[in-house]
Amino acid sequence: MNASEIQKSFGHKLIGSTFMKKIVIKTLLYFPPEIIERITKTTWFVGSFTDGWAFTLRGDELKKDEHLIFLADELMEESEEQIVWTIAHEVGHVVLGHKNSIGKIQTKAEVRKQEKEADLFARKYVRE
Ligand SMILES: [Zn+2]
Repeated sequence: MNASEIQKSFGHKLIGSTFMKKIVIKTLLYFPPEIIERITKTTWFVGSFTDGWAFTLRGDELKKDEHLIFLADELMEESEEQIVWTIAHEVGHVVLGHKNSIGKIQTKAEVRKQEKEADLFARKYVRE
């Protein structure tokens, strides 16, 4: 998959500035096709966007096996390496099937383990 195919595959699940979209796609290009496919089909990336003031996501738009990754404006001011690393780490949480912490109590040890696993995942594909 190339950059424009990735963008097409995301459809409306990629919401953010042009810069954010480009760097999410750039990060995905580090991964093998099966991971790219899985992420573009199941994962929403939401950052700050310039083509509107707000957007609404209906509950049923996020399907059972879909994920939502928020990327802060502040992250977009970091170095490209840092941004790519952070996105790759978050992709790791999705691919590894980690539960997010909203509405679910996790022990600190569980959280630490998942953070380490997501780092290892990112390191496998992207240089630190
Ligand atoms: Zn994490």
